[in-house]
Amino acid sequence: MMDVPTWNTPFWPEGVAKTVPDYKFPLFKIFDDAAAKNPDNVFTIFNGGTRTYAQAKDTADRIANFLIKKGIKKGDKVALFLPNIPHFPEIFFGILKAGACCVNCNPIYTASELNHQLNDSESKMVFCMDHPEFYKNTVNAIKGTGVETVVVCNIKSYLPKLKGFLGSLLGKLPKADSHEPGHIMFDDMVAASSPNPPKISIDPENDTAVMLYTGGTTGVPKGAELTHTNFTYDVTALNEYGRYVHEPGKPAEKLRQNGFHTFLGVLPWYHSFGITCAMLSATLSGSKLVCIADPRAGKPPFTDVLKTVQTYKPTIMPAVPTIFVAFTNHRDIDKYDLTSIIGCFSGGAPLPPEVCKQFEDKTGATIFEGYGLTETTPVVSANPTNKKQRKIGSIGFPLPGTNVKIVDLATGETELAQGEDGELAVCGPQVMKGYWNRPDANDEVFRTIDGLRYFLTGDIAHIDEDGYILITDRKKDMIIVGGFNVYPRDVEDILYTHPSVELAAVVGIPDKRSGESVKAFVKLKPGETVTEDDMKEFCKQNMAGYKRPRSIEFRDEIPVSNVGKVLRRVLRDEEIKA
Ligand code: AMP
Repeated sequence: MMDVPTWNTPFWPEGVAKTVPDYKFPLFKIFDDAAAKNPDNVFTIFNGGTRTYAQAKDTADRIANFLIKKGIKKGDKVALFLPNIPHFPEIFFGILKAGACCVNCNPIYTASELNHQLNDSESKMVFCMDHPEFYKNTVNAIKGTGVETVVVCNIKSYLPKLKGFLGSLLGKLPKADSHEPGHIMFDDMVAASSPNPPKISIDPENDTAVMLYTGGTTGVPKGAELTHTNFTYDVTALNEYGRYVHEPGKPAEKLRQNGFHTFLGVLPWYHSFGITCAMLSATLSGSKLVCIADPRAGKPPFTDVLKTVQTYKPTIMPAVPTIFVAFTNHRDIDKYDLTSIIGCFSGGAPLPPEVCKQFEDKTGATIFEGYGLTETTPVVSANPTNKKQRKIGSIGFPLPGTNVKIVDLATGETELAQGEDGELAVCGPQVMKGYWNRPDANDEVFRTIDGLRYFLTGDIAHIDEDGYILITDRKKDMIIVGGFNVYPRDVEDILYTHPSVELAAVVGIPDKRSGESVKAFVKLKPGETVTEDDMKEFCKQNMAGYKRPRSIEFRDEIPVSNVGKVLRRVLRDEEIKA
């Protein structure tokens, strides 16, 4: 038995704070403070171009003033349909400074997926990228929505003239041929706006800062409303934790460049993991953020990620297990110097112990596995940063200031004994305000236990004899493909729009490369004939790449329960046994 106190008491290495410093302030304060303290520090690096904290703050203030001039009021929703480009954090903080709420949209969404999100969130403005596909999707997606203003971000204005590899990515970022009348170019908007910091009063514990879309436990996309303090708590607690990322022979302070870290922005920032663990963590500590533009805006071949690491020497890399696999499986990994990376945070899906070992052997870095959800901004728990105290295969202990309970699967209310598997419930300052406009969904996930509000995660876990939390299964049907969540309902709903489909069931099956892959079972209407290729083409037209079924099996019958509910579990178990 290891010497660990009860599981509700985080066991942190000596010297790590067990309480979190004050975090009850507006989220943009971390950005303003970093800009005031270290104005000349580099904030973002993108293909060789850099932006300092002072430059970024000036732009964010101008964006806020532009929004206010355009009639955006406190609480209004403004969408970001952007990959990881340097504009992203500047727009993000600009929206918050105007008192508005950021609606982050997955940059690989199709026009109809984006349309749903813009409509559901009631977004009034959207920031998109000057890229043929992005722009076309935006133009199509805003039809029939309340979006009144489109701002188009041009990449090149943020970059110096580049040569070689650093310039090569740019070649993959073509611009849209033309723009619709009335759509505003980002640079023109910035130039025409006042740089004076706007004065909008914020209630940090109640005002929604960001709305992130997730399927939650039921799979219907809905907006998780995250307040300013949901983020300021999570990022502050993580910072306390991250300050102690070190290894014998590799003291963190020495490896920091002039006392600051460099974060590799390889996770997308539309997602809570990328925002909190990379974008906001870098901001809080006045560190550098290396932007890696993700899908469609020239998804970089993995070799470019290796080159980026070698060139910019990031010290911290938050990532999902498939990214660690992409590193270790890369045939040229030994040709690159990846030794700058000292600490990695893994989450989003279980980290296979072998992947952890291989990555650490190749790079010399240490991976700490943590756990969280969109609804918890996202981090709930993490392993201690001391290698001796982490437990590979577990998700560690709750962050300081967070409580978890394991409750019975049927009611979500009765607390189970240590060692028993049940649903993981979370209570902490990072738990969302609730789902936007979805009282039914809120009733399903919130429970009052011991007078406190707990969130039911839909994940099955137990606490082991040493107090570490272990995730053992998922109550919800969600599939995780390379870190992206796929909700069977979402894919089935699209399959049902095909005129020949009578019944559809979508399941996740284990996959060596992506952790899980999507498989669809389809029953056709009587007399209909459709090939697998036809159906795949239909999926290509109608859903983002990561959601598309890798295989589609046609069946005469699909198992359903006596209330007519498709039994996805039965199909999944059949697949696994086969
Ligand atoms: P998301 O809302 O996209 O952040 O996805 C959250 C879900 O990812 C959780 O409910 C879990 O099912 C899964 N997840 C996150 N971290 C881990 C982990 N370390 N181990 C296992 N599953 C995880």
